[in-house]
Amino acid sequence: MTDSARDILQHVFGYDAFRGPQEAIVRTLINGGDALVLMPTGGGKSLCYQIPALVRPGTAVVISPLIALMQDQVAALIQSGVRAAYLSSTLGLQESQAIESQLLDGRLDLLYVAPERLVTSRMLDKLSRVQIALFAIDEAHCVSHWGHDFRSDYLGLSILKQQFPQVPRIALTATADPRTRADIAQRLGLEEAETFISSFDRPNIFYRIVPKQKSLDQLEAFIRREHSGDAGIVYCLSRNKVEKTAASLNERGIRALPYHAGLAPAVREENQTRFLREEGVIMVATIAFGMGINKPNVRFVAHLDLPKSIEAYYQETGRAGRDGLAANAWMAYGLADVIKLKSMLDQSDADESFKREEKRKVDTMLALCETTSCRRQLLLGHFGERMAEPCGHCDNCVEPVPGWEATEPARLALSAVYRTGSRYGVEYLVDVLRGEASERVKANGHDTLAVFGMGRDIADKDWRSVFRQLLARGLLQTDPEGFGALLLDESCRPLLRGETTLMLRREQAKTVTPRKTGGKPALDIAAEDRVLWEALRARRRQLAQEQGVPPYVIFHDSTLLAIMTARPRSLHEMRHVGGIGDSKLERYGDAFLEVVNEYA
Ligand code: ADP
Ligand code: ZN
Repeated sequence: MTDSARDILQHVFGYDAFRGPQEAIVRTLINGGDALVLMPTGGGKSLCYQIPALVRPGTAVVISPLIALMQDQVAALIQSGVRAAYLSSTLGLQESQAIESQLLDGRLDLLYVAPERLVTSRMLDKLSRVQIALFAIDEAHCVSHWGHDFRSDYLGLSILKQQFPQVPRIALTATADPRTRADIAQRLGLEEAETFISSFDRPNIFYRIVPKQKSLDQLEAFIRREHSGDAGIVYCLSRNKVEKTAASLNERGIRALPYHAGLAPAVREENQTRFLREEGVIMVATIAFGMGINKPNVRFVAHLDLPKSIEAYYQETGRAGRDGLAANAWMAYGLADVIKLKSMLDQSDADESFKREEKRKVDTMLALCETTSCRRQLLLGHFGERMAEPCGHCDNCVEPVPGWEATEPARLALSAVYRTGSRYGVEYLVDVLRGEASERVKANGHDTLAVFGMGRDIADKDWRSVFRQLLARGLLQTDPEGFGALLLDESCRPLLRGETTLMLRREQAKTVTPRKTGGKPALDIAAEDRVLWEALRARRRQLAQEQGVPPYVIFHDSTLLAIMTARPRSLHEMRHVGGIGDSKLERYGDAFLEVVNEYA
């Protein structure tokens, strides 16, 4: 049986070998067992059910929460010569009926269905009359309240176990949270299923977090140096900031589109389509933009505001580099972000325990920003995964952050907070420390305090860094009552009393990245290959446009790169390139051989 699975892997999908747990998962399903699969984005979840769908007799039914996701998957399968279709509310009656009759005649290998549609008695009745190869529940975390994408329609999927007890089921998610995982198993009746948990590491993503200075300049420099012509996502906290940032990037000659829930649905839809179909589009978005973005060649995800938790950060950055090629997660953050997130929480009418929990998440996020050790170790550790060695592929690993003995400055900062009555924000406190006798400082008589001017020798931005780190370490708290005001935390007493010392990270005076890490594009195409690369991309774009599909449905970047490197001179040689199965070889082999030959 697995021989036929391997055959399909090679001939239909064009890959030599299974990756990670794929083979074991495929075998479980082929043998009629259930599976619960936790694999990071880009791990290769789709093949886990697509191959058993082709090996087992009958039609596989895939439940997917978003039309865009279904469309993409179906388009890609059709390109590979697989008989796939989707049923959604966007289809007209005739189209739907045509697909239903294909289903009833056993002419479909895979049928994608939205959850609300699947659980109608009409659909269940149809399914009970045909042979079903398996049920695959994609984005299975949608069944859980804990997750960020809860969909009540997913709850109805428990019916599958009751109504089709003999059909194997597989649930898949990229959510690492153990609570969500338990929820999925319980709500979908998969307690007995074999569970496959992969490492959640995304080795191709380079993590970098920099203190905010002039964030738009920093972002522009980052994009120009490392991502010119690449597709990427820039996340901002508010709709207003999305609009401004997109406009500003365009003014600076960088093509960017806005996306947020306040835009008219038609505009949102159009911008999303352009992001998916065109190449090198940057989407500036709120978190409304995300799920269902399975564009494989998003080369970077940038954050101009602090995400509200590590979970959110990891999920958002995870949208980069789904194709396994080099990608960047870049963020600029400042203390104002923390204060804004917390005061938004304070002003919300959620209950106190929820607010406390959410603030704790913000603090953990801040700690990730301020850490001097490996970011990946901290991230994976947060999800319960231990990594023995630092990763060597994040900013802190590549360019270790120098520490400095900051006991005295930290005590001065704490005492400035205390002496001014714990009622002021960072800007004001820095003025006092640096001895700036502003109107406000004078009016409050704070120019007569002993700490006034005691920190003259330390620059503004270094003071801000001290305050951020004191906050990150929990020695300071934000005042829930007053916007931006800082308070002492109990835990700062030993430091104030001189019983402990404090090392802090020294911010480099850099706007972008150190030369060692930065300064080269994420996809490093050698100068002599550039012409061929662009010619291959142009051909792909043309073929995609002719068929009205996104370019990556024709070939992923990884396949295009492999063609560039291998320079096949015959269809036979082309056949060995990863990602080219029989159907794609037949459809596109000649077109791309022509490009390679022209170039040679
Ligand atoms: P996920 O759904 O887990 O995010 P995908 O199924 O989209 O991941 O796969 C991610 C990428 O990995 C795709 O480009 C896919 O073609 C590729 N891929 C998957 N399995 C293999 C394999 N066995 N060998 C080579 N490439 C693979
Ligand atoms: Zn690291």
